[in-house]
Amino acid sequence: MDTSRTSPVEGIPAWEARQAEGATGLADRLAELTRRLLEIDDIERAAAVLGWDQMTYMPQGGNQGRGEQLATLASLAHERLVSPEFGDALKAFAEEAQDAPEDDVRHAFLRTVQRAYDQATKLPQELVARQMRLTTEAYESWVAARAAKDFSVFAPAFAKMVDLSREIAEALGYREEPYDALLDLSEPGMTTKAAADLLGELKASLVPLVQAIAEHKDRVDRGILYGHFADETQWRLGLEAITAFGFDFSRGRQDRSIHPFTTSFGVGDVRITTRIIEDTFASAFFSTLHEGGHGLYEQGLPAEWARTPLGQAISSGVHESQSRLWENLVGRSRPFWRYFLPKAQAAFPSQFGHVSVEDMYRAVNYVEPSLIRVDADEVTYNLHIAVRFEVERALMRGEIAARDVPEAWRAKMQEYLGVVPPDDLVGALQDIHWTGGLGGFIGYTVGNVVSAQIWAAAGQAIGDLPERIAQGDFAPLLAFLRRELHQLGSRETTDGFLRKATGQGLTTRPYLAYIQGKFGELYGI
Ligand code: ZN
Repeated sequence: MDTSRTSPVEGIPAWEARQAEGATGLADRLAELTRRLLEIDDIERAAAVLGWDQMTYMPQGGNQGRGEQLATLASLAHERLVSPEFGDALKAFAEEAQDAPEDDVRHAFLRTVQRAYDQATKLPQELVARQMRLTTEAYESWVAARAAKDFSVFAPAFAKMVDLSREIAEALGYREEPYDALLDLSEPGMTTKAAADLLGELKASLVPLVQAIAEHKDRVDRGILYGHFADETQWRLGLEAITAFGFDFSRGRQDRSIHPFTTSFGVGDVRITTRIIEDTFASAFFSTLHEGGHGLYEQGLPAEWARTPLGQAISSGVHESQSRLWENLVGRSRPFWRYFLPKAQAAFPSQFGHVSVEDMYRAVNYVEPSLIRVDADEVTYNLHIAVRFEVERALMRGEIAARDVPEAWRAKMQEYLGVVPPDDLVGALQDIHWTGGLGGFIGYTVGNVVSAQIWAAAGQAIGDLPERIAQGDFAPLLAFLRRELHQLGSRETTDGFLRKATGQGLTTRPYLAYIQGKFGELYGI
């Protein structure tokens, strides 16, 4: 296999000059480091194919075998990453990168590889394999608990997952509390305190807004979104929208799963999934726009750094900013519906034939404190995250046990959203995330906040953005995202990329201004 052409430091003059001076030992070690990274990535992508199949087409009988296969592949990737040879090659490269100028790509390459290496060397292989096996066990138990609508069926496996999450946090290390280590896994640098502050700012504005909207619920009607919407027509319409956005179906495809997700086997093969519910239009349509947004980011990652950590997305939260941007800032805007309503009307003439752009705009922005996170509107979404974040933090601190989750859940839902789940299926069992561990939810809030920051910057850079969208021309927006984010891979941190693209680090201001402006107008408050 020829892997030399994908070396991430090829084409860098300083590096080539060093090579020309005869520093072949270093060149060899870099080639060795790169070769090993590519091999590890291949193993991980193979595991991603198996994971995708598990969630889409695999029959139930495949569960145990698939869990074993995934555990074996995780072990193989881990072994390679923690090997002394990898460590030596990384150390040699780190010495070389030290001399490079501050903004040299070698620094970013080193940062991303070092991070992956540090995480892997801190986590014993036995722990990684155990986590993979427990994930499969917890998934089966979660499916059974959902069938019974009873969290107590899932609680024993979940209790093991909480214990394992604590073990992982201890192994990784943290500054203030164990939960920090788990947040850092998906959001590099994010601490429990920073996340609590972010959610605190949002709660302070959003809880009163949700209450005010609840008092004026009748000002927006979404009745047009309910009825019968044939499965295959919904499927086709969703694909039509993301094709217009720029999703490349020669480098990706959509399938079905219980819980929509996006996974990537490389920049040339990005998979998204959806689930279609025939008695409502909005669920599958916006889930397709959402996953399509994730897919656009994956398809836009830099091919020259593919199969290395530098070629990957910055974080889960930044990833989520892309799905949110296409789903909400674009898909729930007036300009989008000026463009797309005729298509929706052609697809569903009896349902949408007499609907105006304004009717549709209002319907798709209906706000209701509801039970299900994935169906939540823009105003209440972060409050669902606050519930999960605070429950997880309490679990990690040992303030509550796994079996106490439904009760804690109900109390917080009541406090923030004013609604209480009648059973666990629409309560603490609704998300798949806890089958794999804790700490993964904060990215959704980071994503919401970042999406509004990028959107504001895109609006400034593209003077006629609303008109372009109303014409179905998404190319300037996609080009902006490609240039300011996708093509960077992990060259910048979340903060670094935000400062360059928007002039500010992570801040809730654009998000809150957008939410208050939009929903204040819609609900007349
Ligand atoms: Zn998402």
